[in-house]
Amino acid sequence: MTERYDVVIIGGGPAGAGASYELADAGAKVLVIEKAKYPRPKLCAGCISKRSVDLFPAFSIKNSIKGGILGFKGQEFVEKVSDECAVIVDREEFDHFLISKAQEKGAHLLEETTVKEIELTPTVRKVITDKGVFEADYVIGADGYHSVTRKSIACKSASRKFFIAIEVKVPKDMFKDFKEDEVLIDIGVVKKGYGWYFPQGEFVNIGIATAEKEDLLNIFKAYTKNHKLFP
Ligand SMILES: Cc1cc2nc3c(=O)[nH]c(=O)nc-3n(C[C@H](O)[C@H](O)[C@H](O)COP(=O)(O)OP(=O)(O)OC[C@H]3O[C@@H](n4cnc5c(N)ncnc54)[C@H](O)[C@@H]3O)c2cc1C
Repeated sequence: MTERYDVVIIGGGPAGAGASYELADAGAKVLVIEKAKYPRPKLCAGCISKRSVDLFPAFSIKNSIKGGILGFKGQEFVEKVSDECAVIVDREEFDHFLISKAQEKGAHLLEETTVKEIELTPTVRKVITDKGVFEADYVIGADGYHSVTRKSIACKSASRKFFIAIEVKVPKDMFKDFKEDEVLIDIGVVKKGYGWYFPQGEFVNIGIATAEKEDLLNIFKAYTKNHKLFP
């Protein structure tokens, strides 16, 4: 017989892990279905607000951020504060940490399982995966940008553009004027996208992303050269 849950959550990123933590803590029988296996890589610069950290003070922080630069077509707008306003985390570690906290609260986790479709009936929600069918009173779709939940329930026909990105991690010693407490977000370096420069522990995370079809490698090279990010 198919096991029935109060809530099945599709996707175990911060949204899914956060929801499962709260629901399990409130006593619900929760299952998180995640297609990857933790710890899993995640393309993300990892800058999160300080308020998120206050929820889990024990988590390992790579950098404490006290300011940012917003670049726009050669101009720079600088915002500095004296206190920590954000932190940098490693998403691979952070997401693993969050889901393990949810498990400690009693949430069940099924890894390496891909949700294919969701079937809604008047009495039950059926989550169809490559490893079988799971039933629940409620389903939460936390499966990110290319959400199967969205396609299955909300807008069946909608397809979304792919976002392409280049991200590299460079040892911080390679930089002359390295600022451990400052992030840079650069709008206008590429159409429908942005570039970034975020400190991350012993490294600097540099990247560029766009929703357009672009020669991203050459734009990335020009971007890093213009900013003199490399010595
Ligand atoms: C280049 C880049 C840089 C970014 N930098 C930052 C930043 O510095 N700070 C910040 O706050 N945000 C940043 N973001 C955004 C951030 O990554 C997302 O907002 C965040 O990951 C969304 O969390 P989520 O839990 O909703 O989804 P996700 O983190 O995308 O998690 C979705 C999960 O669902 C799983 N999944 C997907 N489909 C299925 C399926 N069919 N079955 C089972 N599991 C499935 C995936 O494996 C994944 O684990 C960045 C994004 C990009 C692209």
